[in-house]
Amino acid sequence: MLGLAAIPLGVRCRFLDPSPTAGASAVGVLTVGALDDVAAVSATIAGADALTFEWEGVPATSLLPAIDAGIPVAPGVQALRTSQDRGVEKQQFKALGIDTAPYWLIETRSEFDAALRELAGPGILKTCRGGYDGKGQARIANAAQANAAWQQLDGVPLILEGLVAFDRELSVLACRGRDGTTVVWPVTENEHRDGILHTSIVTPATVSDAMQARAHHIAARLMDALEYVGVIAIELFQVGDTLIANEFAPRVHNSGHWTIEGSATSQFENHVRAVLGMPLGSTELRNSVVMFNAIGSLPDRDAVLAVPGAHFHSYDKVPLSGRKVGHITVVDPSTETLQTLRDLLQ
Ligand code: AMP
Repeated sequence: MLGLAAIPLGVRCRFLDPSPTAGASAVGVLTVGALDDVAAVSATIAGADALTFEWEGVPATSLLPAIDAGIPVAPGVQALRTSQDRGVEKQQFKALGIDTAPYWLIETRSEFDAALRELAGPGILKTCRGGYDGKGQARIANAAQANAAWQQLDGVPLILEGLVAFDRELSVLACRGRDGTTVVWPVTENEHRDGILHTSIVTPATVSDAMQARAHHIAARLMDALEYVGVIAIELFQVGDTLIANEFAPRVHNSGHWTIEGSATSQFENHVRAVLGMPLGSTELRNSVVMFNAIGSLPDRDAVLAVPGAHFHSYDKVPLSGRKVGHITVVDPSTETLQTLRDLLQ
C-alpha cells in the first residue's frame, strides 16, 4: 500500500522482504532477503533517497547501513527502538506526562509476586519484546492464572500491566514532516477479536472535540520528543474522559487503512511525503468510514464489490488462520450495508 501510494508522486520503491512471494513486488523492485542481513539491506538501499520500514520488528541494526551512507531514515532509530520494548515505551509515555496503565517491569518470580501484591487486581503479563496481535501475553485474574502466565512467559523480560476497564479502544494516527509540521487524522474507534483488530470505525460525532484534542496532543508530544518523521499510530484506551496510552506503532497502521478512501490524503501517501520531505496533505475526513479486516481468508470479491460503496483490498497473501489477508472499506455506510458486509466476512 505504501508502494502503491508512492507511484503517483513519481516515487519508485525498492523493498526488502524475506518472502519471494511478497505482494510488494507488484508495485516495486523486491529484494528477497532476511531483514537482519546487512548485505541485503545495503543492496536494497544503494543510491536511495530515503529508507523507511513498515514493521516494528525490523532490527534497529538494519537501519545502520543507511545512516552510514547518509541516507535519511524515517522514522528514526530512536522511535523504532522505543517501540520495540514495552518497558521503554511505557517509560517514554510516562516521561511525557501521558497516562498509561499501572505497570511493573519484571525479570524474576519474586518481582512478579511483589508486583501482583501491589496491583491487587486483574492484570496482563506481557513480554517486553516481540509480542503482537495478542501474542506473548496472558491475562491474570487469580493465583492459578498468575502461575500459568509465569510458566508460559518466564525466561524473557516481562511487564505486568493493570487491566484497564476501558469504555472503548481508540487509535490516533498522525504524520510529522521533516520540518516538524504535524497533521492528525480524526480518532479511530477499534474493535478487536481474539486480540486481533477486526473493525475500525470513524464517526467523529462519537468522539468529542475535547477527546480529539487530547489524542492530538498525545501524538504531537510523542512525535516531537522522538523527532519523528512519518506516520505514527498510538493505541489508546478511553476511560470516561481520560485517554490511556497502550502502545505506539512507528509506521503506517492497520487502524488507518480507512484513510485510503475516507480521507483527503491516505496515511500511505502522507508517509511517503513525510519521508521524502514533501509538504503533507490534508487529513480531512470525507465521511464516516468503516473498515473490516479479512482475517484468515478473503470474502468473495465480487459479492463485496456488489455492495454499494464497498472497496475491496487483497494483500495477495496465502490464507492462514489469524492472518490479515485483506480489508474492506465502506464510506458512509447504512446499517444494512454494514450487516451485508459482516455476513460476507463470516
Ligand atoms: P497489545 O498487544 O498491547 O496491543 O494488546 C492487545 C489487546 O489486549 C489490546 O488491544 C486490548 O484489547 C487488550 N489489552 C492490552 N493491554 C491491556 C490493558 N492493560 N488493559 C486492558 N486491556 C488490555
